[in-house]
Amino acid sequence: MLEDADVRGAAKWPFVFGAALLYFLPARSSLGPHPQRPMLIDVHNHFYPPAYLEALQAGDSTVELTIDADDNPCLHYPGDYNVAVRGHRDIDFRHAELEREGVDTQIITFTTPGTHVEPAERAVRFARLVNDAYATIVRERAPRFAALATLPLSDPAASVAELTRAVTSLGMRGAMVFSNVNGIALADPRFDALWAEADRLHAVIHIHPTNPVGVEAMTDYWLMPLVGFLGDTTLAAAKLVFAGVPERYPNITWILSHLGGAIPYLAERLDRGWEAFADCRTEISRRPTEYLRNFYFDTVNFDPAAVRLAVDFAGADHVLAASDYPHQIGSISKMKSSLAALKVTEAERKKILGENARALYNL
Ligand SMILES: [Zn+2]
Repeated sequence: MLEDADVRGAAKWPFVFGAALLYFLPARSSLGPHPQRPMLIDVHNHFYPPAYLEALQAGDSTVELTIDADDNPCLHYPGDYNVAVRGHRDIDFRHAELEREGVDTQIITFTTPGTHVEPAERAVRFARLVNDAYATIVRERAPRFAALATLPLSDPAASVAELTRAVTSLGMRGAMVFSNVNGIALADPRFDALWAEADRLHAVIHIHPTNPVGVEAMTDYWLMPLVGFLGDTTLAAAKLVFAGVPERYPNITWILSHLGGAIPYLAERLDRGWEAFADCRTEISRRPTEYLRNFYFDTVNFDPAAVRLAVDFAGADHVLAASDYPHQIGSISKMKSSLAALKVTEAERKKILGENARALYNL
């Protein structure tokens, strides 16, 4: 009997051990079907390469930098400052955290204040430094990390060259750009060459907010990131559409941060404007919503009802899981809990959690 029990026990052990291993190792070494949970790809989060922070600390920048009580660098810009916590700047720490949280891949991107606040020569140098650092991370740590480039947007010609380099030499799918460039709209003709190149490359362009024109009206209560950001993304998207940029460059895949600001909520009003005002029809042949439904919307708004509105607007095929990690206002756990509570079919939830991003980023 004892012998039988031993034999049965021995036969059971590999299974029990294997199941436990799967449970404690939520990370996968390569992307593919997971036996226990859907693939999770986080498309909106931020990383400051240490070499960039060192340059700022050395005074080689127009960005005001302070150090907080916990020794974190703080990057100041009008209406906001980012506390560069460990996850922002320590890739080993971050990698371990993603493994613990079960995030299969993050598409890492730069963030505010951006390189465009620097003089052109330094903006170009910093953008290259950041993109080279991202390329190294991806090369060493794929599939845990992929990246979108940052561009020296204050120099549109250099931005074209850097986008080309990022896509063709560094293997990136495109770039994250800011919602305005020192007050200049993305729809301004000076960026036409950039959109033409993005179109030629079939690039992904993810629009991320920065401090808007009129920031002085939103410097208390953190109203700039809480309200101004969303307004500026909304404004950027609406103006790009009315200016005919998505119509002229149909091969660009646009992603809007924070569920598109207010786009899913007020898109109907843009259509009414197109019908009512001749000025709104000079550059585009179709209603604004026909372009905007082709945009992608990241889920950095952790209210499942708000995410549901974006799904109703653009379809589950055009919504992408996102956390804004590791900003104070971002959260991987809220990303996961809000998408778990989202009222969609399980097939749609899988798309939002990772399948859409996997296709978009060729992962
Ligand atoms: Zn962000």
